[in-house]
Amino acid sequence: MVIYHLALSVFSVNDTGAQSMKEAVLHIKSEKRMHILRVQSSALMAIHSYMHKHGVVQSMPIILSPETDPLNHPHFDASVEYYGQRLHLTKSMILHKQLSLLNDGIDKIYFMSPNVRLEDGKLKETGRHLFEFSQVDIEFKDKTKKDFIRFTDGMIASIYKFVMRKCADDLKALDRTLKVPKLPLKVYESEDLRKELGEDFEKLVSHRAEDPFWIMNFRREFYDREDKERRGYYHNYDIFWPEGYGEALSGGEREWEHKEIVRKMAERKTNMKAFDTYLQVSSQGLIPRTVGGGLGIERMVRYLTGQKHIRDVTLFPRVPGERIIF
Ligand code: AMP
Ligand code: MG
Repeated sequence: MVIYHLALSVFSVNDTGAQSMKEAVLHIKSEKRMHILRVQSSALMAIHSYMHKHGVVQSMPIILSPETDPLNHPHFDASVEYYGQRLHLTKSMILHKQLSLLNDGIDKIYFMSPNVRLEDGKLKETGRHLFEFSQVDIEFKDKTKKDFIRFTDGMIASIYKFVMRKCADDLKALDRTLKVPKLPLKVYESEDLRKELGEDFEKLVSHRAEDPFWIMNFRREFYDREDKERRGYYHNYDIFWPEGYGEALSGGEREWEHKEIVRKMAERKTNMKAFDTYLQVSSQGLIPRTVGGGLGIERMVRYLTGQKHIRDVTLFPRVPGERIIF
């Protein structure tokens, strides 16, 4: 894992000159944006209702904290010094989700969480990357990946149904046709797909799929649970949108044993000093046994509204490497 350490004030953007102030204003004023935001509102409403129906409580996100997700890919550091403490902008709420379940009365929680990930400017053209985006971040205590899959299948179907019912006119204006997926969503093993299709399996299956689907088992950050009897097998997963829209959600069962967490951090060369308090908690056996996942909101809206580039689903685009107007 590489983290570029750079003072934010001197971070020089790879300016394409893609947008002037006038273009940025037109972007906000566009009728298309209105239809897209209406679809987003309905999708979020469907998620909130589904959570409420299933007793999942919402907590507000945190924005600055001494410890945050290390991430497994290159990115720039986004932190500030405040009264002698270095505080990081949230890259994901993973650690806080786990800690929130220390409360004996809470066993299902979710956050609508803004994430700041100063991604490499090379990702500008993927159409899927922003350097500020939001996740629906969900975590359950004493549950398994099977439970999470069943829950999330229902949530995905409810999003389609609600959006198709409430936003028929918006979808029509956007020339977008959706169909409610058949449940249960298909579940693949990454090992099988890699053998069948090679390293590009995610993309290939997403292109040929008509419904969202799950892929199990990815090597990721220290907190996703690795099987003790079968090293190299991870009890985690991604959901993918069909029609080539790619990754929708990442999650998994989590490590809770201190020994495993430390072993995994060492293996990934994670800077353990950066997780000092988290490790104090785990060393006392306090990390709850949890499972969960984070669904990218802008990527979901990009898929639901059929947009080529994720910039088009936001009023104030934050595309890696692109100059920001507002
Ligand atoms: P992760 O746990 O890192 O996979 O993030 C959870 C979800 O957030 C992903 O499955 C994506 O849907 C979304 N996501 C991650 N990174 C970005 C990004 N740079 N821009 C937009 N969405 C993202
Ligand atoms: Mg992911």
